Amino acid sequence: MSSTAAAEDRPLTRSGRVSLLGLDEAGLHALLQELDEKPFRSKQLRQWLHQRRVFDFDAMTDLAKGFRGKLADLSELRVPQAVFDRESGDGTRKWLLALESGQAVETVYIPERGRGTLCVSSQVGCALDCGFCSTGKQGFNRNLTAAEIIGQLHFATRALEQEGRDRRVTNVVMMGMGEPLANFRNVVAATNLMVDPYAWALSRRRVTLSTVGLVPALYRLADVSNISLAVSLHAPNDALRDEIVPINRKYPLRELLPACEHYIGNTPHHCIYWEYVMLDGVNDSQGHARQLIDLLGNIPSKINLIPFNPFPGTHYAASPRERIQRFADTLQRAGFITTIRRTRGQDIDGACGQLVGQVINRRNQGKRGTTTASA
Ligand code: SAH
Repeated sequence: MSSTAAAEDRPLTRSGRVSLLGLDEAGLHALLQELDEKPFRSKQLRQWLHQRRVFDFDAMTDLAKGFRGKLADLSELRVPQAVFDRESGDGTRKWLLALESGQAVETVYIPERGRGTLCVSSQVGCALDCGFCSTGKQGFNRNLTAAEIIGQLHFATRALEQEGRDRRVTNVVMMGMGEPLANFRNVVAATNLMVDPYAWALSRRRVTLSTVGLVPALYRLADVSNISLAVSLHAPNDALRDEIVPINRKYPLRELLPACEHYIGNTPHHCIYWEYVMLDGVNDSQGHARQLIDLLGNIPSKINLIPFNPFPGTHYAASPRERIQRFADTLQRAGFITTIRRTRGQDIDGACGQLVGQVINRRNQGKRGTTTASA
């Protein structure tokens, strides 16, 4: 699983240096080849940079001095820094990270029992304009570089270490600002590093890409990655999805669903995590639940119902708790493993915390087609 990396499209920093932190295995190999260095140096470099998180080339003692000098001359190592840092009463930590270009993106850490999830951004803003999403309302600014994406993991890991409370990042979700598949190459390089045994070494099940469903990019992703896939569905039919998620007009459900099935097709024990934001009176009726059951049919699925997090200027409202529960019960009775997310970090204006939340464990252990009662 690797991206192709040619020298001419290697990411450079504003100062014209190679952005070393964002190079995955393939990217480093290409660089090493140019420098006439042995490919196995790539393994050593990834261990220094991502496992030991040593950025001082002089300290990389198993690399030849001349090579270290070359690296120091041509590359740059930069991790975004926090300009805002808050912790919620529930332990959720939110950082606003300043980028070299002057903009800022959000990164959120969500501690849960036995794990810690980092919600990572992929773009400054977003071009997709989903009506219920506050990032979409801000418009698109630019793609993050691979170094800026993996840099969020570096930053959070270091910040959590400094706290000294034994909190770690065990899971990453690409559910922050932006549409990851619209920044394909950089997101693939960064997620490659997350699952790379010589870099962050997270299991592919613990790294999740969340997408609105850009169909051609989903097929491309299947060729180069096997991380977990979450798809922002939000509606059980095209007419409604056209309205809530406008990109559906370009990639309707009859194209999106086969692309998702293709993605998990040759990955054993995989399923798709469908995200469904519960909008009052819009997509939350029992009829919608039944349509959803028919739509997903036999696709290996887990459904996450997300309570809508309102923001100034939105015309949507959150579904009442009981309606969300009834919706979940109907899906569970049809055999779908369904969870309702509890929004975390509300007291610190969770923002991307509006997206990820603690899963309330309401799992129906029954298999598809059973009529086991909900938990
Ligand atoms: N662009 C990607 C990833 C970012 S959004 C995507 O669409 O999946 C991550 C998740 O948060 C998506 O499911 C999105 O629909 C949801 N989300 C966005 N705004 C929200 C809000 N105000 N309330 C609840 N969920 C929201």
